[in-house]
Amino acid sequence: MLNHRNILDKFTENEVYQLASELIKIPSYTGLAEQEKQIATFIYNFFKNENIQVEFQEPLENRPNVIATLKGNGNGRSLMLTGHMDTVPPYNMINSPLSGDISNGRLYGRGACDMKGALACMIGAVTAIKRSGIALDGDLVFAGVINEEQKSEGTEYIVTNGPHTDAAIVGEPSGLQIAAGHRGLEWIEIDIIGKTTHGGTPHEGINAISKAAKLITRIENDLVPKFKERRHPLIGDPLLNFGVIEGGDQPSSVAGRCKIFIDRRWTPLESFDLIMNELQALISDLKKEDKDFNAQAKRYFADSNMMLHKPLEINLDHPVIKSLKKGISSSIGKDPEIISFLAWTDASLLSNYAQIPSVVFGPGNLKNAHSEDEFVELTQLRSAYESYVLTAIDFCNGDVKND
Ligand SMILES: [Zn+2]
Repeated sequence: MLNHRNILDKFTENEVYQLASELIKIPSYTGLAEQEKQIATFIYNFFKNENIQVEFQEPLENRPNVIATLKGNGNGRSLMLTGHMDTVPPYNMINSPLSGDISNGRLYGRGACDMKGALACMIGAVTAIKRSGIALDGDLVFAGVINEEQKSEGTEYIVTNGPHTDAAIVGEPSGLQIAAGHRGLEWIEIDIIGKTTHGGTPHEGINAISKAAKLITRIENDLVPKFKERRHPLIGDPLLNFGVIEGGDQPSSVAGRCKIFIDRRWTPLESFDLIMNELQALISDLKKEDKDFNAQAKRYFADSNMMLHKPLEINLDHPVIKSLKKGISSSIGKDPEIISFLAWTDASLLSNYAQIPSVVFGPGNLKNAHSEDEFVELTQLRSAYESYVLTAIDFCNGDVKND
């Protein structure tokens, strides 16, 4: 029987907080040149100093992923602890975004919650196990990835090139609850085509703004009410948001063009093909009723080869869920809740495209992510760190035959 306290103490809670603070001090926000290179190098050197096997991948030029591995003896399951190293920009933060200040039981700065806090907990977990000298049966992998806040090229690279593990934990801020699923997310662009004329002769033109209004009304009346029938027991109803509308040139011209941008979030009970087909069907119906109606819908990122952002779902009986439950409850003293995460995450890519069963579990609350006073509570960092250590040992050393 392993003495877990002994292993946990190999990386102290103060080391977790200090490491998280150091990571916040290294800017890695969207828009910086070589955005994640400095933080990736810091993490690489950290593992090197601990004599842990570590390497770079290069999904984008000068923007590396960092992969560290504790090799198991080959008899157990392998686990990936992963998180993104990029953050959103500081925007209007009230506190200094790069301070990494620790006060009143909280760690402050851009990325504290999303998700440098989790990265520190994961790096600490790998280091503690290495320092303890215990042998794991399966490999334990840490993956720090790039550009999740934009196009997720970091995780797409892992999907295509490995490492491939038996399960993955993505450390997005789930408030120490187990997020066993989330909605898929794609943006859809609808181009409504009319005909421009002078505002004094509107009957000569076709007003694309008026036609867009017709389409919006049809979507709200005929499509959105169907969402309730597609309610997923964990993930909930599908969602649709009209996020942007733009069209026309000036008030005295009949608008010849109008565009609508939709945010569509779907559950495993739908598919992206279904979503596009039902939008096309509404457009076809409107065309039949109105010979002047003309519109085209497409995926916003149709011209890139970005993987689809599908929903995440994991079987609640999966061994990684069992190990996580045990690990979290021995750290926080009660059973964690099983929830659906309210944002899309890289766990979707690992799960849908690499067939790595994945779950979201991390410190901090999503409402603090991207916020003006981003912070994470130190107690959550400590519990997440402990949970990662205990989960990794239980999962990688678990009895594979009894799964
Ligand atoms: Zn995030």
